[in-house]
Amino acid sequence: MATHSNKPRPMVALQTMTTYDYIIVGAGSAGCVLANRLSADPAVKVCLLEAGPVDSSPFIRMPIGIIAMMMSKVMNWRYFTEPQKNLNNRRLFWPRGKTLGGSSSSNAMVYTRGHAWDYDHWAALGNAGWSYAQVLPLFRRAENHERGADAFHGVGGPLNVAPLRSPNLLTGVYVKAAVQAGFVENKDFNGANQEGVSPYEVTQKNGERWSVARAYLHPVLKRPNLTVITEARTTKVLLDGKRARGVAYIKGGKTVEIAATQEVILSGGAINSPQLLMLSGIGPVNELQKHGIAVQHALPGVGQNLQDHLDLMVVHKCTKPVSLGVSPTTLLAQVKHLFNYIFNRKGALTTNGAEGGGFVKSDASQTIPDLQFHFAAVHLEDHARNLKSALSTMFGHGYTLHVCDLRPKSRGYIGLKSADPAADALIEPNYLSHPDDMKTMVKGVKVARSVLAAQAFDAYRGVEMFPGRHVQTDAQIEAFVREKAATIYHPVGTCKMGHDAMAVVDDTLKVHGMQGLRVVDASIMPTLVGGNTNAPTVMIAEKASSMILASRSVERVVAMQAGVLHAHEVQDSIPA
Ligand SMILES: Cc1cc2nc3c(=O)[nH]c(=O)nc-3n(C[C@H](O)[C@H](O)[C@H](O)COP(=O)(O)OP(=O)(O)OC[C@H]3O[C@@H](n4cnc5c(N)ncnc54)[C@H](O)[C@@H]3O)c2cc1C
Repeated sequence: MATHSNKPRPMVALQTMTTYDYIIVGAGSAGCVLANRLSADPAVKVCLLEAGPVDSSPFIRMPIGIIAMMMSKVMNWRYFTEPQKNLNNRRLFWPRGKTLGGSSSSNAMVYTRGHAWDYDHWAALGNAGWSYAQVLPLFRRAENHERGADAFHGVGGPLNVAPLRSPNLLTGVYVKAAVQAGFVENKDFNGANQEGVSPYEVTQKNGERWSVARAYLHPVLKRPNLTVITEARTTKVLLDGKRARGVAYIKGGKTVEIAATQEVILSGGAINSPQLLMLSGIGPVNELQKHGIAVQHALPGVGQNLQDHLDLMVVHKCTKPVSLGVSPTTLLAQVKHLFNYIFNRKGALTTNGAEGGGFVKSDASQTIPDLQFHFAAVHLEDHARNLKSALSTMFGHGYTLHVCDLRPKSRGYIGLKSADPAADALIEPNYLSHPDDMKTMVKGVKVARSVLAAQAFDAYRGVEMFPGRHVQTDAQIEAFVREKAATIYHPVGTCKMGHDAMAVVDDTLKVHGMQGLRVVDASIMPTLVGGNTNAPTVMIAEKASSMILASRSVERVVAMQAGVLHAHEVQDSIPA
């Protein structure tokens, strides 16, 4: 077990370590953006540390490989929550990516940003610079939208956003059915208006997954000033009083310490970033003391404010062999799909699984959509997380409409199970601890059923597998929720940005009360956005890198005024 003491370290020891300007912990959606943007200046030395292996697996590139990524024990942290008392004491499966690209290397590739209201709300909470109007240019800068640029979309950015290449027939049926059920069609959830239904757009290019690693990291791997170290799990932030001076990581069984002259940036995601802060002695005093960790900096909000999208599935058998599942009648077609993928990068293997999208209101009193749909032309079972559930998902024909509560009021937390950095963090989402959340879920099931009952599905509708026709009253639906609800993989909020006593970072993402330490990943969201969380995390990292580069420029101007730097050197460092 690695030591967890974090005594103030003498500078002389740090001077003997390998030194970088910036150390980024975690090569996920946020970490890859930072590594690219910060190392764009050849004078800046950047180190990116990733606990998982390189992302060379073909299952990452091939969209349908998401099933293999769910099962992977190497490229997936495969977390489980604490037993959920409002979900019949079930421990919920929480997959998270563990490779270059992080969760963007194993996610469902859906590209949505949330609602403009979400960002205006962050700004209204006191976070200057985070209103929708202020973050929209960053979404656009990140994006290469294949449909072209407009007021809401960018071209030329690293993150490719594309329409589905070969959507399943049932995805079109779903859109028709939703319109028949009274919802509007909306071809751009990220445009002027989020509300409505349509096929999703995806982070793919030429039929392959376009993870954030492929978008931002691969093109810059040869930069001499960027060092990427994989299979290196950071165990602690090294502190010198209230200043982060470097990190310790374990690689190949050996502990290595490296130093940062400027900043340590934590991008380990909503579970691992708060865990690492606590292991380093930064967090709620009680939690640290419980595990014998010396308190370096009391910060009560670390790990708190956990929010996630809880999801339910309404699942039908399909009476025709048109869904993505495999059956004797479709075996030949499956072989064709394989060749179509190999030679053209088209066909069923390019599916992201959740092809059909929707943002709808659970009732007329809502001012913005409070429910999200993910339609999958397959009868999904238990995340396809092991061989048994993967096989029952893949074989036979069916379709699934997921529905989730976009702005849950329940709050959980990330704690420690142990001071051992190799141990998983304690995950307590506290699902449905706020009574309004159950009410929204029950309404969600009814709304999803109304879509699947519409005429467009008449030619395909088999028996309702879940909840099943015997589930009709609110009490029965509630029981179904407790028995079957699961995550749709969007934990955030555990190092929240803000200025209240429970905030962990300020609105420049610097850890309150510390120097040289930022958190940049999904954990900084004060409230969960009403949509998927990959694009928002990329935006957060784009904004963080702009802020960091801008502060470097200011420092350089000061240095120039002091005669240390010349004007052209200052000019070179000013970000576009
Ligand atoms: C199965 C699944 C499906 C999803 N589907 C979608 C979707 O379709 N659309 C969407 O928008 N969002 C989706 N998401 C969510 C989205 O991908 C995440 O919100 C986003 O990737 C989070 O980015 P992040 O940078 O905060 O963390 P991550 O991308 O998870 O990156 C964290 C990285 O840090 C590394 N790390 C952690 N701890 C350490 C340590 N101590 N030392 C070194 N490295 C460390 C991890 O291995 C990982 O690579 C999905 C997520 C999952 C898991």
